[in-house]
Amino acid sequence: MTANAEHTESSVKSMDDIMSLCKRRGFIYPASEIYGGVNGFWDYGPLGAQLKKNLRDAWWTDVVMKGCDGQLGPNGKPVEIVPLDSSIIQNPKVWEASGHVGGFNDPMVDDKETKQRFRADHLFGITLIANDLYKDKEEFDKALAAGMEIRFRPFMTIVASTIGEVLSEIQKNKDVRKQFRKKLNGEGPFNFQVYDNVAGGIAISFEIPEGNEPFSAIAINPVSSWMLENESEKVPSPFTGKAGSLTKPRAFNLMFKTVLGATGNMEDNAAYLRPETAQGIFINFKNVIDTTRVSVPFGIAQTGKAFRNEVTPRNFTFRSREFEQMEIEFFCHPDEAKDWYVFWRDWRMSWWQSLGLEGENLILREHDSDELAHYAKEGAGTSDIEYKFPFTAPGFGELEGIADRTNFDLTQHAEHSKSKLDYFDNTRGELAKNGQPKGERYLPHVIEPSAGLDRGVLALLCEAYTPDPDRASGVYMKFHPRIAPIKAAVFPLVKKDGMPEVAAPLAAELRKRFGHLGTIEYDEKQSIGKRYARMDEAGCPFCFTIDGDSLTDNTVTARNRDTLEQERIAIDKVGDYLAQKLGL
Ligand code: ATP
Repeated sequence: MTANAEHTESSVKSMDDIMSLCKRRGFIYPASEIYGGVNGFWDYGPLGAQLKKNLRDAWWTDVVMKGCDGQLGPNGKPVEIVPLDSSIIQNPKVWEASGHVGGFNDPMVDDKETKQRFRADHLFGITLIANDLYKDKEEFDKALAAGMEIRFRPFMTIVASTIGEVLSEIQKNKDVRKQFRKKLNGEGPFNFQVYDNVAGGIAISFEIPEGNEPFSAIAINPVSSWMLENESEKVPSPFTGKAGSLTKPRAFNLMFKTVLGATGNMEDNAAYLRPETAQGIFINFKNVIDTTRVSVPFGIAQTGKAFRNEVTPRNFTFRSREFEQMEIEFFCHPDEAKDWYVFWRDWRMSWWQSLGLEGENLILREHDSDELAHYAKEGAGTSDIEYKFPFTAPGFGELEGIADRTNFDLTQHAEHSKSKLDYFDNTRGELAKNGQPKGERYLPHVIEPSAGLDRGVLALLCEAYTPDPDRASGVYMKFHPRIAPIKAAVFPLVKKDGMPEVAAPLAAELRKRFGHLGTIEYDEKQSIGKRYARMDEAGCPFCFTIDGDSLTDNTVTARNRDTLEQERIAIDKVGDYLAQKLGL
């Protein structure tokens, strides 16, 4: 149990502020907004679309084109990765083989009274651990004797996917605060201290003013699946606060179904929108082996949309129903799985760090054995790269998972499709009389680094958001220049006196040279202060302004977004200056 006294609400950026900037500046809009929106779907505006493309391009360049940014793999050779672009709709048998038809379920709980539905693992309970847990020792001993872990009996529940969300709900919601005060027997505000890692959640100990009932702490934990299965009638509803209206959890399949053909029906002609891009790679493993020069160890990479009918889409784009993945399936000999797993885990972590997620908001978390997917139990390991989003703080949310999936998927597809998916490796096996290896046939293990593009964009947005009361905008977006959607802006100081005539050709020249990397903004309207403020909110790292002096001495003012320093540089050196600043 670790005390985390530093955690205060003010140290966490406000998600509402970030979302409002995203809307205001055209990063992200609610989908179908003029029709009232559609839950779980988002549209990327001009800045967001370019930011997303820059992140996808950075991944594609570093993973596919540069083969892990030109590093040598643990075998001492360049890392071989080939690209793929597979279909969103595949033969439905693909999803039977992968286990998605039978097993891609979320346990759902319904509130019979309010008719609302939520994911069973998204229910957090708030428990008085000082005086409410197991009313007397006898009850507690009985529970232990029955082999049960200590279970918390919450006085209140909240639907949330992270502890951060629970905390912000407590902060925001008056009714919730009222219940709290009642339980705490006082008006507050109370001094408190937060402890992480208490039975999968956190505990908060309160210093209660003198004269009140003795009380020390509450715990905020996911309500255990045991309790929902066996004692759902005792769990208070997150909507009414009353116990007795919740059902036991029931399975709900997350795949979107559709019908193939004009005359098809849902029974005989059903197809699924892919819930992950990975399976498109596995079913093309043999095609790639047969049609290219790759040999194991090698990887296949693809980016693309995936669809999951998430029960409770929430937290902006973090949990959406349509999202984009960037996935690599790396095939290797089972004996080398551990080395490749470690290689990929560490390289993926350093890749996210290289894009600006370099502080303590990013962690690499190796999974405990009880968290592992069934196929991964035999594997070399599973880890998550996690980011501390404002809505997960003090906890973290997954950006990318790296797992040794063993030969589970190839085995499944070989069995279901009756195809031979094993690999003949002529560099292995006993030596023949001629001194050459006889070869070995095996099903490769697969190391899968699977990243979410939308979650990556969201982490970059949250990380970049930097309040600064000294600026006209009050905030700026401190994107790493590589992923900034606008690379530079060119402004005439005023829209007259020959300045636009100098500024416009400079903008055109920069577009020609840097336009493949992002936007070069050209803007002649409004005061220069307003234009700088807009660029600060857009996260544009460099602005070049043509003023009266430019017309005589051929220099421009270069403004640095982060330092706010301004320097004069020669107009014909602006391109080289920008190239150097962008690290090209
Ligand atoms: P979670 O536990 O958060 O539901 P997951 O473990 O099911 O995620 P994976 O199946 O491993 O996720 O998918 C790989 C990546 O795809 C995740 O790391 C995440 O970045 C992204 N992803 C998964 N589900 C969603 C979603 N609903 N919205 C946005 N991104 C998602």
